[in-house]
Amino acid sequence: MIRIKSDDEIARMKGAGAVVAAVFEAVAPLMKPGISTGEINRTAHRVIVDAGATPSFLGYGPAEAPFPAATCISIDAEVVHGIPSDSRILEDGMIVSVDVGACLDGYHGDAARTYIIGDVPPRVKELVEVTEEAFWKGLEQALPGKRLGDISSAVQEHCEAHGFGIIRVLTGHGVGAELHESPNLPNYGRRGRGLRLEAGMTLALEPMVTLGSFNVAMTANNWTFETVDGLPASHYENTFVITDDKPVVLTMRS
Ligand code: MG
Repeated sequence: MIRIKSDDEIARMKGAGAVVAAVFEAVAPLMKPGISTGEINRTAHRVIVDAGATPSFLGYGPAEAPFPAATCISIDAEVVHGIPSDSRILEDGMIVSVDVGACLDGYHGDAARTYIIGDVPPRVKELVEVTEEAFWKGLEQALPGKRLGDISSAVQEHCEAHGFGIIRVLTGHGVGAELHESPNLPNYGRRGRGLRLEAGMTLALEPMVTLGSFNVAMTANNWTFETVDGLPASHYENTFVITDDKPVVLTMRS
């Protein structure tokens, strides 16, 4: 079931999204060689709690093995759901995605950024840039009367035009009172296909893009996905609301 949000619900989601935006403002200056992903996570967690919100990801998942941190921090070939650790230290030449969810007043915001640490090869820099561009290409299609496939195909076409891979088995999603709601929002698809978009739909669009093959596999910790070929992957995400006019991103400062 697709939950169309009221103005009051959207206002709450804007509040949650502002907390997520504040997390990125706090962690961006830390993304340098020498810091551990555990420390980055603690900073993020503190910003969320200080704002009166709760971290959406901490404790998410199966009761016997819930996700253990406020953020997912994924390095290089790790695509998503990397587990922060004090023994994981950022180094020059890495790309590092930080994925953050915050819940405020019963509603979630969900977003991710990929940071370049020091110097990376031009093609890896391009990967990170194209991943963010793909989000905006997809967002342009998020208008009432369009279809989900219009967003998905715009993301796919932009990434493939640059020769990058679009991951199939991981998708964006509806977001609201639940962190993950219907529908799934794939990063590949066909123009004119799929669910018709309506004002009040709140979605997280999150291109996950690879330098090489788009095939990924679960790692031994049962959370983190990695590229099968070991080449880097990039991730960029925002929560947004479809309106009668242009879509509004909720996880950035306006
Ligand atoms: Mg998400």
